[in-house]
This record gives sequence, structure tokens and C-alpha cells, in this order.
Amino acid sequence: MNYGNIPDTLIDAVLKQHDIVDVVSKYVHLAKQGKNLVGLCPFHSEKSPSFTVTPIKQIYHCFGCGAGGNSIKFIMEIEGYSFPEAVRQLAEEANIPFDWEDTPKEQTEQQKEKTELYKAYEWSAKWYHYLLRNSEHGKPAMEYLRSRGFSDKLIDLYQIGYAPPMWDTLVQFLVKRDLDPVLMEKGGLFSERKSGTGHVDLFRDRIMFPIWDAKGRVVAFGGRLMGDGQPKYMNTPETMLFNKSKVLYNFHHARASIRKTQTIVLFEGYVDAIKAWDAGVLNGVATMGTALTEAHAKLMKNNAEQVILCYDGDQAGQAAALKSLTILESVGCKTSVAMIPNLMDPDEYISAYGSHPFTAEIIQAAVPSTKFRLLYLEKSHMVQRDVINGEDEGNLRYIHSALKVIAELASPTEREHYLKSLSNDFHYSLDVLKQDLHAVRKEMKKVKPIGDNNDISWNNVMNNRRVVEAAPTLLPAYHNAERNLLAIMMNFREVSDYVQQKLGDQFNVEVHAALAAYLYAYYSLGREPDVSRYIATLQNSKLESVASYISMIDSKQGINSQVIDDYIRAIKRYTQELALNQKKEESKRAERLGDVLQEARIEVEILALEKQMKLM
Ligand SMILES: [Zn+2]
Repeated sequence: MNYGNIPDTLIDAVLKQHDIVDVVSKYVHLAKQGKNLVGLCPFHSEKSPSFTVTPIKQIYHCFGCGAGGNSIKFIMEIEGYSFPEAVRQLAEEANIPFDWEDTPKEQTEQQKEKTELYKAYEWSAKWYHYLLRNSEHGKPAMEYLRSRGFSDKLIDLYQIGYAPPMWDTLVQFLVKRDLDPVLMEKGGLFSERKSGTGHVDLFRDRIMFPIWDAKGRVVAFGGRLMGDGQPKYMNTPETMLFNKSKVLYNFHHARASIRKTQTIVLFEGYVDAIKAWDAGVLNGVATMGTALTEAHAKLMKNNAEQVILCYDGDQAGQAAALKSLTILESVGCKTSVAMIPNLMDPDEYISAYGSHPFTAEIIQAAVPSTKFRLLYLEKSHMVQRDVINGEDEGNLRYIHSALKVIAELASPTEREHYLKSLSNDFHYSLDVLKQDLHAVRKEMKKVKPIGDNNDISWNNVMNNRRVVEAAPTLLPAYHNAERNLLAIMMNFREVSDYVQQKLGDQFNVEVHAALAAYLYAYYSLGREPDVSRYIATLQNSKLESVASYISMIDSKQGINSQVIDDYIRAIKRYTQELALNQKKEESKRAERLGDVLQEARIEVEILALEKQMKLM
């Protein structure tokens, strides 16, 4: 199975050494409830606890958002780690010796290179910082930073540095320390000399901002020119250490505050995040010269309940905020927007008005995302109104777009709230607006039916927690049968063997078929039933979520071969029904086409199928 090259024994040891209750308790306050413990889910926002930990099975599952898995999965989700990173972290904590990276050869090579690069980045950051603080070359840069409101304390905290204008300051520094220039080029610190051979520094005559990963290791730089010239901002290119669509600047600094406040303030640029920190916003992070990605959004979702966007006040900034809202909401983040007046950016606002107004009047006064969307629409329609349409036409257009935004709200109270202010602002009667809204919502439901949980294309909804399993009573018989059967199979290897023979991969729900396949594979390695261990083999959020949910089904009572055969029959029956329906469609089609022979042939098949089903 796919663990990279992490030995099974290491995964076993890690799961054995870390009780799920201890692991989760570090992040979630748990209270006893029967055999289980419950608490408020750290992965979605809730007021009554639906996050459940089962010590006997060593797993957790949230009935609110569907998050679930074992200790390793929990650490992955809450810390934003990959599977190997989570295993490593847990192994280190329990003092379990491991050496899996030594096994295959390429891995060792790449790992070695990474270690070298981490070293190079750490040294370079220190070197640039030293040059800024202590060298003659650094003096203008120091003056520039001070004039821009950077205190010495802030410069030290963020290890801001300076790359001098000479060609090879860093080259000389690192080569003297035996670092391989070719690797340094690959790692984004050097570039090839244009004429002749050898290397030169990639960053020259720039103020240098180290960029840290979530673990606090320097993995890249942002370099800023002081004077005119292009490009003004330059970042390290993508390397084996730096993936800008995943890194959030300042995340390692902000982590403690984020955990405490369950809130992240998101900025567009690293300078904003630094200045905001200085102004007292200790939970600020920034993207690195790139649009917000789904990976960023998920990382934030896993660490906080809500995100406050604080982008530039100009048109480009507001348009970017609108895009980011959609991405954040698609992964289930609660969002609001801190709006900066007069087209300023956060740094400019802090310089002009000071720290307290920034935290109190901008960050703490962030408006709900719906309100932001409406304001944004109003602004753009106002422009249209003036330019082309005349006032009434412009207002009507605005109201129509606004109703679409309001229609998306799940809460009737919120919808009413926004309708009322729309009615007040534009002098339309509330009743008329309500009627219009009703029509818009009806239209929307046609496009995307609400409450349709029988989505079986699990690989399309990977990690999408909003697809929550519906209450068992609402599901068709075959669906329940598949779930109950899987629950028993997870506890009894003999049952799994039996089902493998009788049913194989013939589960109707695709996720269930996948879970069964993984279970057969798990037992074929000679393993004993162990839900937590089995879940470690899945490495797919959707599968883990459904597996942890199913394993919560109490399957120890009243199991006998009769019950199991009944489930298998129900599952097969549904497959037959599908086949039957398809035949009936074909028969109708043949009738329409006047193909009597074909129709007769299909009728025979239908009769045979029906007979078979009666015998089942
Ligand atoms: Zn949850």
C-alpha cells in the first residue's frame, strides 16, 4: 500500500504509542459521554459538540462536518502536515527511532539536497540580516526601512536583511562553507553567470525578507528594491523547499494567536503582515505574490474558525478579496472583510492613522462577507448607472444582482435582514422584494438541488467536507446494507473474507467499493481487525471520513450469517434493479423505433431478470 517508504512497523508503533484521546486533548476539550468522548469540532464551527472520539477504536469522527480518522490523520489535519510529516512528528514525540528515509536511493539523494538547502537558507538569512545591521552597504537600506516605519525590534524579529549590489556576495559566503553552487542554483539562491562559467547571486541590491514554512524553517526570500526599477518585488522561484501556492507568510509566528482566537487575518503582502503584527494583529498571515489557492484555504480552515480578509482598498484589491472569499467559503471557512478606506493598503493606513485605529476600526470592524459582496456590487453598479443607464435602470440591475447574493444565504433571519436594508435604501416594498427573492431561490434550487447526498463520485469531492453523510433513515436500503456490512467487516476478518467471495467489488456506492477493496487488501497482509490501523492505509480524506463514520456503527450485536446474507442480498438486488430498469428503457426505445424483434428479445431478458430476482 501507498505509504511512500515508511515501514509498516513504524506506523504500528506510532499508533500504539499515541492514544487518540491524548493526541486530540492537546487541541480539543473533551468530555466523557458513555464509551466515547465528545467536544467541539476543531475543523468546523459549531455550538454543540458533534466531534466524537472513540478510545476503543482509536479513532475520531465529527458528525457535523464528516472529519474523521486516527491519530496520524488528526495531526495531519490540524497541523496541515502530509502523511509522512505527521508520522515523523508523532514518532519524534514518542522517541520512536526511525530511519525510513534511508531506504531507497533517490529519496536519500533528495533528502540530502533538502537538508543542504535548509542549511543554506538559514545561513543566508543570517548573513543578509548581518549585512543590513552591521555593514556600510546596509546603511541606506536601514535608513529606508526606518523611514518606512520599521523599528529595529521589528527588523530583528522578522530577520529582515540586505543583499548588496555586488555580483557574488552570497556565492562567496556559501561556497566557502562547502555548499554546492549547482544545488544553490537549483534551490533559488544563485543564478548562472551569463557570460562564461560560474554563478552569481540571484538577489542583488534588495531588502531581503526571509519566508518561513509552517515549521519555522527559512525556505525562500522576498526581495524588494528601494529605488525605482523592475521588478520591484522579487520572490525566490518555486524550488523543492518552496511552493508558493501552499506557503502562508508568518504562519509559524501567528500560530499561537490563531489557535487562541480561532481567527486568521489574511493579507495580500508580507509587508502588510509584518506591519500589522507591529500594530498588534498577532494572527496575520499573507500569501506570497500569488492568488489564494485551495491549499491555502484548507490550511486556514484546519487551523481557525474564521478568516478576516484585509486586502488593499483599491479596485484590484477588492476584486481579489471577492475571489478569495469564494475559495475560502468553498472549503467551509467563515469569512468577513476588513475594509480600508481611501484606496489605501494596510501598511499605508497604519502609517497614516496608527495602530489602535487599525485594530479597532478596521480589523475588529470587519463586515460579514454578504455585506461586503453587496457593497462591492453597489459600487460597480453606481459606476454603470452614471456612465450608461440612468438611475432607475441602474438601481434595478443592482437589486437583481443583490437578490442573487442574498438568496445564497442559508439563514432566513439573515436574508430578512439584508432585504430590509435593501428596501430602506431603494424604497421598494419589502413584500415585493420577498416575492422576487423567492423566485430567485426557486430558480437556484433548480440548478443545484439542495440536500442531495447520494453523490457517488467520491474522487470528485475529495476533502470536500460539506458533503456530509445524510441521516441513516433517509438512505435507500442498499446503502444502509452496504454500510452495515462494511462495519461488520471492519471488526471480523472472516466476514470480510466471506463478503469478498460472495460480493467482491459489487458495492453500489463507489466509496463503499473502494473501502471494501482496501479492507480486503488490509486483511490479505495477515493483519488483525483494527479500525485505526486500517484507516492509515486509506490516505484519502473522503474515504477516511466515511470509514470513521461507518466504524461508529455499533456492529457487535446480533450478528449472524443470516443477517450478513440479508445485507448481501439487498446489495445485489439493487444492482439487479438497475439492470432491470435499463432493460425496460431499452425495450421502450425499441418499441418507439418499431423494432419488434429487438423488443421481443429484450422482453425475454426482462422476464429472466425478474425471475432471478424473485429467487433471491
Ligand atoms: Zn466537524
